[in-house]
Amino acid sequence: MLNIIICGAPGCGKGTQSDLLVNKYKLEHLSTGDLLRKEIAKKSELGLIADSYISNGNLVPDAMIIDILSKAINEQAEGVKGVILDGFPRTVAQAEALEVMLKKVNKEVSVLLDLTVDNDELINRLLKRGETSGRSDDNLETIKKRLEIYEIKTAPVSDFYKKINKYASINGMGSIEEIFERIAAVIDSKRQ
Ligand code: AMP
Repeated sequence: MLNIIICGAPGCGKGTQSDLLVNKYKLEHLSTGDLLRKEIAKKSELGLIADSYISNGNLVPDAMIIDILSKAINEQAEGVKGVILDGFPRTVAQAEALEVMLKKVNKEVSVLLDLTVDNDELINRLLKRGETSGRSDDNLETIKKRLEIYEIKTAPVSDFYKKINKYASINGMGSIEEIFERIAAVIDSKRQ
């Protein structure tokens, strides 16, 4: 069973690479950002609360996102080959909660893939995405805030996985195909 976390700063290519991974390894894709955007589109109470954080470039509170993710994990169909967690955990508290959640269902994280991309490139990619994404958080001011918050709150998550030997840094610069090859090489080494 492959339980992969894909993480990295906003714009690092997590979503794009997750789609390719789902295809190749037949994994289930769980993106907390997508789950939140669905709630926003439905205009649910949870969506309205989430929107107030997301459109300001802030993280949604831990308790709220942990609840959403644990429901998604518990609802997983029997027999899935594994999961790609895209955009979760984003804080050390979330990483700790994930360990507990997975232990309860006799599962564990296989590896955290950290996609590293230069800041200038991240900003360019996000501004370009903003031209078509319709996302309230893909504008320069919010992008800068998201990058700052990433450094403060999410970067320490890497140390958590380094300590338990489940960390892999991936060079996220280059073509989509090149980056995917780097990722697949790490995953294939974990499967042997
Ligand atoms: P993403 O699609 O992963 O870039 O997520 C978009 C936004 O959703 C983030 O900037 C956060 O505001 C919120 N979000 C997604 N995942 C999380 C998480 N694990 N913890 C807190 N906020 C999150």
